[in-house]
Amino acid sequence: MIPFGSVRLGRIFGISIELNYTWFFIFALLVTDLTLRFQLKPFNLPLVVSIINATITTLLLFASVLFHELSHSYIAKKSGIPIKKITLFIFGGVAQMSKEPENPEVEFKMAIAGPLSSFFLSFSFGLIWMGARGLGLEMAGASFLLLWQINLALAVFNLLPGFPLDGGRVLRAGLWYWMKDMQRATKIASQAGQGIAFSLIFFGFMMVFVLGDISALWLVLIGWFLNHAAQTSYQQLILQRSLSGIKVAEIMSKDVQIIDPSITLDKLVNEYFLKYRYGRFPVVENDQLLGVITLHDIKEIPQGDWSRVTAREIVVSPKKSCIISYREDAVNALMQMAREEAGHLLVVDENGSLVGLVTRSDIIRLIKVKTELGV
Ligand SMILES: [Zn+2]
Repeated sequence: MIPFGSVRLGRIFGISIELNYTWFFIFALLVTDLTLRFQLKPFNLPLVVSIINATITTLLLFASVLFHELSHSYIAKKSGIPIKKITLFIFGGVAQMSKEPENPEVEFKMAIAGPLSSFFLSFSFGLIWMGARGLGLEMAGASFLLLWQINLALAVFNLLPGFPLDGGRVLRAGLWYWMKDMQRATKIASQAGQGIAFSLIFFGFMMVFVLGDISALWLVLIGWFLNHAAQTSYQQLILQRSLSGIKVAEIMSKDVQIIDPSITLDKLVNEYFLKYRYGRFPVVENDQLLGVITLHDIKEIPQGDWSRVTAREIVVSPKKSCIISYREDAVNALMQMAREEAGHLLVVDENGSLVGLVTRSDIIRLIKVKTELGV
């Protein structure tokens, strides 16, 4: 869902904290914007002080977003839902759950924790601001005034009742509790999410064209992102539902054409690539998977050497991310392929022996059949 790569900052409570590359853009934008503001009334700070103040304020703001995500994660972990990682990106933060909550009560507690933590931060920063003002520390106070306002805005915005915003999750929890049907609840809450998204886009454009306020383009972008998020999270749920309970072992193809490492490349081309027309073949020796050779690997070797070079010499051991256990859930296989942008995964048993191959199209075909039959 989040574009571009990320850098890892470290771990808190065993959760990996990552900065998406888009974060650096928003960081620079906020520091610049705040520096300009601090130089104006009512602050009237000198340039250098403004830059320092703006940087500290921005860092505290991201710490606030992280705190918000950590409170979701804390409740999730306590309810037995592991959180893989928290990513800070251009539109805030996302805590990536490894599975959906099992009942509406857990969903509600997890969702509400975020806005509550932002209200708490807003209140605390407000107190610090008043304290600083009382002591005549106007300069330090300026940052806390902004942090008070921004955290309040964060809490309120996140409470908008559109899935997958926190408020939308609260709405889904309520509907789910009331209708006893998670899928329908998600559908309605996602539609509400799309409705809010389109309103944001509409008001954003109105403000740009009628009021000439260019910064309202931000609303348009957030609306666009929210719409996308609402759509994909609903689709993902449908996917998870139709694959629930299905293991990799049930959908993998077992008759995988394997090759021996001693085969020369010219034989490999003629007897395997040209004959079976697959894009890749696993190399196996004594039941152990040595790796995979693709057409691309062979093209790297000059054709004149094909009769001398063997598969063993060019095969590289497979990345962990290309392998999956036959006992894993099929939905995890699909997610792993999406993450790695791979079309297939090698399926192994407990001993690391290759037992099959699972492809993206295998899974998609199964989903299609299941949705068409409504089973
Ligand atoms: Zn939240």
